[in-house]
Amino acid sequence: MELTVLGCCSGMPAGGEASSGYLVRGGGTSVLLDCGPGIATALGALGGPAPLGAVVISHLHLDHCYDLLPLGKTLLTMVLDYPGGPPRAAGAPDPLPLYLPHGCADLLRRWAALFPVPTLPQLDRAFDLAFDVREYRPGDTARIGALDLELHELRHGAPNCGTRITDGAATLAYTGDTGVTPALEDLARDVDLFVAECSLDRTDTGPQGHLSGADAGRAATSADARELLLTHWTSDDPAWRAARRDDARAVYGGPVHAAHAGWTDRVGALTRL
Ligand SMILES: [Zn+2]
Repeated sequence: MELTVLGCCSGMPAGGEASSGYLVRGGGTSVLLDCGPGIATALGALGGPAPLGAVVISHLHLDHCYDLLPLGKTLLTMVLDYPGGPPRAAGAPDPLPLYLPHGCADLLRRWAALFPVPTLPQLDRAFDLAFDVREYRPGDTARIGALDLELHELRHGAPNCGTRITDGAATLAYTGDTGVTPALEDLARDVDLFVAECSLDRTDTGPQGHLSGADAGRAATSADARELLLTHWTSDDPAWRAARRDDARAVYGGPVHAAHAGWTDRVGALTRL
C-alpha cells in the first residue's frame, strides 16, 4: 500500500500546494481521502479519477471537499460527446463510490445545480450521475477492492471521521480534522503510518478542533503508531513546519515526517520514492 500526498494545506492552497487530498494505492485499487481545492488538478497529473475505487470525505469543510465538483464534472465529461471534440470512450463508466458524512449528499446536489449548463444538462448532475453517493455514519466500514476501511468519529467543528485503511499487510490512519480526543488512539492503534493533522503550534482548548505537533506526537505514542506524517499545515513556511515536526519528535520516538505535495511512501516499508 502506498500513500501520495496530493495536497497538505489547511484552508486554501498556498505556496503552490493544494488543500487536503491523499491518494492511497493498494489492494488492486486506489482511494482518494478528501478532495480540497487543487486536488482535482493534482490528481489529474497522476491519472485522474478514472482509476479510483472510491472517494472518502472526512467532513464538509471546504478545504476537504471543494474539488468534488470539478472531479465529478471530469468524470462526466469522460463520456459526453461534444460536437467537434475528441472521441469519447463508448459507454459510461460506473459511478464512483463517494463516501460522505451522513446528511451531506443533498447539500452537494444543490451546490452542483447552482451552475446549470442548459445545453448539456447532465453536467449539472455530478452527484447523481458521476458519483455513487453513500452517506456514512461513525463506526461504519467499507471494502474497496482489497482495502478495508473503518470510519472513526473524532472531535472537530463539523462532524468528522478519520479513516483507517488496511490491505491486510499494512495499515494507515488519517485524521481529517480533529482536536485532542481519546478516539485518536482507536483510529491509529498499531498503524504503520499515522497521517495526522497539525494545524496549530499549541493545544486547541476551544471548539474548533485541531492538533498541534505535540498533540499529534502524543497521540502517535499512545496508539503505538510506527511512523507519523504531519499535515494540514496552516503555514507554508518551512521553518514553521520544521518546528511542528520538532514538537512531535519531543514526545514521540518513531520517525516523524512533514508532508508536502508529492510526498510518497510505501506504507510499512519505510521506503521513500
Ligand atoms: Zn475542518
